[in-house]
Amino acid sequence: MSHPQRVTVLGATGSIGTSTLDVIARHPERYQVYALTAHTSRETLLSQCIEHQPAIAVLAQEEDAQWLRLELRQARVATEVAVGEQALVDVAQDSSVDIVMAAIVGAAGLLPALAAARAGKRVLLANKEALVMSGALFMQAVETAKATLLPIDSEHNAIYQCLPSEHRGGLARHGVSQLLLTASGGPFRTWSREALAGVTPDQACAHPNWSMGRKISVDSATLMNKGLELIEACWLFDATPEQIQVVVHPQSVIHSMAAYHDGSVLAQLGNPDMRTPIAYGLAWPERIDAGVEALDLFQVARLDFEAPDEGRFPCLRLAREAMQQGGSAPAILNAANEVAVEAFLAKRLGFNAIGDVVAAVLNDQSVEPIDHLETVLNADQHARRTAQQWVSHFAR
Ligand code: NAD
Ligand code: MG
Repeated sequence: MSHPQRVTVLGATGSIGTSTLDVIARHPERYQVYALTAHTSRETLLSQCIEHQPAIAVLAQEEDAQWLRLELRQARVATEVAVGEQALVDVAQDSSVDIVMAAIVGAAGLLPALAAARAGKRVLLANKEALVMSGALFMQAVETAKATLLPIDSEHNAIYQCLPSEHRGGLARHGVSQLLLTASGGPFRTWSREALAGVTPDQACAHPNWSMGRKISVDSATLMNKGLELIEACWLFDATPEQIQVVVHPQSVIHSMAAYHDGSVLAQLGNPDMRTPIAYGLAWPERIDAGVEALDLFQVARLDFEAPDEGRFPCLRLAREAMQQGGSAPAILNAANEVAVEAFLAKRLGFNAIGDVVAAVLNDQSVEPIDHLETVLNADQHARRTAQQWVSHFAR
């Protein structure tokens, strides 16, 4: 491509968003920021606009937008400021955009990520919840619009790198027998179920290897993150839940693996730094500098592996079962989990009760086949209401 690629970063002020802008800033000749979006972090968005001079910035509230417009005028930055959900969709599908980084957290990221896929963009997907909720529709949109979907979640990015470049149509067709999804095990890997009951939000958000947003940090601690990733991998790689084995690997150096019928296992290794998968997604099929330190194997010294304990961490099992059930079950699981995690972060719910709420909601709500986006959004809304009731029931 002769012109710099124009990039929209959805969720620019978050952990993935800021890492994305860090990589982009290293390659001004290759990338130009078209739009940056944030929910409420207007100060961070302001400094990002001053540095990257996007055409458009998006915030959720008119009041924050007015503040940003004033500040930008004073700083003599020409960025236009838009507001609301439709504006997120607009900057994701705009004809002048080449690449969309989908890094909004949770179900809120679904519509803009889907819009980017439908518009045939190169979609860098960090927002795993979008795929968990609407996997079939999302993958269909990618295919119909000939979008390029590159997984940013480090495990899926690793698997993508370990698979043949054409891997659609089922794993077996490409000689792959199993995907090995590695998990750090989170900060409470060795804790008893009794000790887990007393975990606080700050403890849950202090991940041993990765620095991430608060929602995904809690998901990592409950292993729901691995469950969501199992579902994500099924959609991305045409795999069944049975073809995916979760392997706890506390060092987070192997980011995941693909096992082949001939006995070969291919792994992707690296320091736990999201700028590696982000740079891979931006430049694919080329490779660019990501600002990541080279892996020092002597310093790593050893790699350990163990099986996950689904007794202490039931969320992984709940996610696998939801995927096996199919239809709206993963969307219900995701919505219930978002409500439960929010309640945990607000100290209204204990750590072990997150899984209890998710299990109760899945048990209550009937599963529908998914043919339209409406079905997904209805299942999501219904599950949120049911989850609120269960949160009150299980509240400390
Ligand atoms: P984060 O909380 O740090 O950032 C979230 C971003 O989304 C922020 O810019 C925020 O302003 C925006 N946002 C939040 N709620 C919104 C809403 N309702 N509407 C519009 N924008 C909203 O989260 P993160 O850690 O960067 O994670 C982002 C996504 O990437 C998540 O889906 C997560 O699972 C996935 N992911 C993150 C990591 C990581 O290392 N952080 C790794 C793999 C996957
Ligand atoms: Mg991951």
